[in-house]
Amino acid sequence: MLTMQSLTKTYVTDNVQTHALREFNLQVNEGDFVAVTGPSGSGKTTFLNIAGLLETFNQGTYTLDGQNVSALNDKQRSKVRNEKIGFIFQNFNLIPDLNLYDNVDVPLRYRGFNAQERKRRIEQSLERVGLAKRMQHLPSQLSGGQQQRVAIARALAGEPRFLLADEPTGNLDTKMAHSVMALLTEINQNGTTIVMVTHDPELAAQTQRNIFVRDGKVSETTPELVVTDKI
Ligand code: ADP
Ligand code: ADP
Repeated sequence: MLTMQSLTKTYVTDNVQTHALREFNLQVNEGDFVAVTGPSGSGKTTFLNIAGLLETFNQGTYTLDGQNVSALNDKQRSKVRNEKIGFIFQNFNLIPDLNLYDNVDVPLRYRGFNAQERKRRIEQSLERVGLAKRMQHLPSQLSGGQQQRVAIARALAGEPRFLLADEPTGNLDTKMAHSVMALLTEINQNGTTIVMVTHDPELAAQTQRNIFVRDGKVSETTPELVVTDKI
């Protein structure tokens, strides 16, 4: 479970304050697939970066998997992040001159797994995204949708409980976006909690739960209301 209570995040640049999150409250339960939408600049990326322990915040409480992670130091945050969280980004963030196998290997090496364990995780996760046969290929030899699948494999290889996705389909055409969405749905059904920021209301509608961020605060449409809207 992921719980944020009254989170406040203020950026200060050249003495100008920007309130990215104001009293932000959210609970994401084990097994949820949550889509986060909202206008540009509303605080979605800030929320996701804090959720992923990439960024700190000014006030409030953040509890992840029963652990209060509000006041951890950098080293402690990295440990929790590496063990519990996988990230997917809009532009895939693959390393162009490494083949798929080595791309998935990068975070596993960083975490210090032995060669045998790394091989098991890499092969298993590339298999899961349907790219096991292309391990020796470079990212540039794949379509955008396939590159995003590699990024998903890299995240899954860490065996995260939470997958955080920032516009994972933002650079993909409709068909590829739907195929990536189908993969994420399957991953969620296999037990990984997913939080996905998206601009696309059609994709958001495919998840269990939609959250709207506006002016650094959350509002929520319950599944019942989503159904009512459609009728
Ligand atoms: P936000 O500010 O909402 O987080 P970003 O600034 O990260 O969005 O923008 C991500 C990219 O998505 C940008 O290149 C932006 O032009 C693009 N984008 C904006 N609106 C949409 C949309 N409705 N559908 C797809 N992409 C969009
Ligand atoms: P979204 O993802 O919904 O587009 P962001 O979380 O990126 O929104 O941004 C929320 C607000 O915080 C915006 O006003 C943005 O300009 C500001 N902001 C985000 N990152 C920084 C930063 N590093 N420094 C200063 N202001 C920032």
